[in-house]
Amino acid sequence: MDTQVLNIDKQSLDLAKKYIADGQVVAFPTETVYGLGANAFDEVAVKKIFVAKGRPSDNPLIVHVADKQAVYSIASHVTDDAVKVMDKLMPGPITMVLKKQSTIPHCVTGGLDTVAIRMPSSSQAQAFLSAVGYPICAPSANTSSRPSPTSWAHVAEDMDGKIPLILKGDDCQVGIESTVLDLSRDVPLILRPGIVTKSEIEAVLGKEVYFPDAIDKSMNSPGIRYKHYAPCCETFLNVDGDLQKIKDFLSSNENAGLVAVDKYANLTQKFFSLGQDAQSGAHNIFAALRDAEKVCDKLLIVWDLVGEEADGVFNRVIKSCGGKII
Ligand code: AMP
Ligand code: MG
Repeated sequence: MDTQVLNIDKQSLDLAKKYIADGQVVAFPTETVYGLGANAFDEVAVKKIFVAKGRPSDNPLIVHVADKQAVYSIASHVTDDAVKVMDKLMPGPITMVLKKQSTIPHCVTGGLDTVAIRMPSSSQAQAFLSAVGYPICAPSANTSSRPSPTSWAHVAEDMDGKIPLILKGDDCQVGIESTVLDLSRDVPLILRPGIVTKSEIEAVLGKEVYFPDAIDKSMNSPGIRYKHYAPCCETFLNVDGDLQKIKDFLSSNENAGLVAVDKYANLTQKFFSLGQDAQSGAHNIFAALRDAEKVCDKLLIVWDLVGEEADGVFNRVIKSCGGKII
């Protein structure tokens, strides 16, 4: 299949609409990462997403909506907490998990009776969603287990020849996937950390919010079982900032690279920057991993960010190195 990569304008949005109506898959930008979208009500189209990504079929997809009203046609019960989240945090990089309507196909939710819903704030994502006119289920537009795509070029690396159209938008401003908040249970649970923090959600809901580990590991989000975000080169993590250890790693491994905040930039030519704070860390992490794998055989990520804003980036970092700590 030929993959067209087109700037976002009236013509390309019309084409995207046609492809989605025909049951095809289209990649589009959002403020978090690029998504691989299909009509959420079209089972055959949804299955094409799993094929293009090589994604396990029990890993559910997020349904993206253009407006808040659409939430009521996807969720069977929009709770009071969900209304608060919709009022204060949507559109934005947050996903709510709610009990699903029976019309949402099994393959979208990985067989669960809940559905994940998000309204992106990116104007380019909104233009796509409004143009196609369907709720669009979309995972990140990368091959499964690879770093998520935060530019159209990342999408092209993984999806060329597999989908008919990539909408070529801006680089993703946030850079890591949405915070996933489960509001379908007795207590609100953060199933995946993101740039919207636990404290921000607690302020909006006026009550405590939990991470599943604190309660029961079986409540974890389905997606977290799988290998994730791994670059092609073998990747390690350092969390103690021991300079000698970092230098030893770089000198004892030919073609070794470093992903870290800027204060480590002078340690090697093969340096891939996380900037200096949680926001830049989120914005840069996936591009850093993709840039590094092209020129490094081994990679060390040095973790040097503090505060809960950085939790989402740390979650991606620890998975990308498969838990290999030095
Ligand atoms: P991705 O598409 O890669 O951003 O992954 C979406 C993630 O959202 C999945 O891997 C799940 O962890 C989470 N998710 C989607 N739907 C549900 C659901 N119904 N219940 C719990 N988690 C969900
Ligand atoms: Mg993903």
